[in-house]
Amino acid sequence: MGGTRRLVVLAGPTAVGKGTVASYVRSRHPEVWLSVSATTRPPRPGEVHGQHYYFVDDAEFDRLEREGQLLEWATVHGRARYGTPRGPVDESLAAGNPTMLEIDLQGARAVREAMPEALFVFLAPPTWEDLVQRLVGRGTEDEAERERRLETARTELAARSEFDRTIVNDDVARAGEELVSLMVDPPTKD
Ligand code: 5GP
Repeated sequence: MGGTRRLVVLAGPTAVGKGTVASYVRSRHPEVWLSVSATTRPPRPGEVHGQHYYFVDDAEFDRLEREGQLLEWATVHGRARYGTPRGPVDESLAAGNPTMLEIDLQGARAVREAMPEALFVFLAPPTWEDLVQRLVGRGTEDEAERERRLETARTELAARSEFDRTIVNDDVARAGEELVSLMVDPPTKD
């Protein structure tokens, strides 16, 4: 099994825990190659350039985009830009590695246009209430902000039907292992 069948694209609603599942895979499964995105957002404490992200300024992001070096890119939450460097993904697939992208829904749609043979995995919350809890937390936002976030969550959850597989994030390790099993022994798309 070669080519882009080994490519898994993990996406899902905001706050469902995609980053946490990706971190689990990164630390426990070195056989899986995880794409490192470029972003214009500043690093958070503990984030390492070249490991979690390539932290670039607007001019550098413009250049990557202009030169066609990004497989996809999107503005996330109306704030920073994020994009997947194309070359390293191609190299990883050519080397036969299980390869994974953890990106937002817009990005997943763009990759589906470019690489329809990839396996698209939707990470879902165990319940709607669980997602609401993660999104609005202790309710420090005002009513308008709360409504805006819930509306976003409803729209994002509806994207599930666009995906090949759904993994429920009921437990990070369990969800991570299910994800890896799809890459190491890729299922036939139906
Ligand atoms: P964070 O800033 O919390 O690390 O990530 C915010 C969001 O950006 C997450 O939903 C993550 O999936 C998304 N993201 C990270 N890298 C990329 C990328 O290369 N492309 C796209 N489209 N989204 C990304």
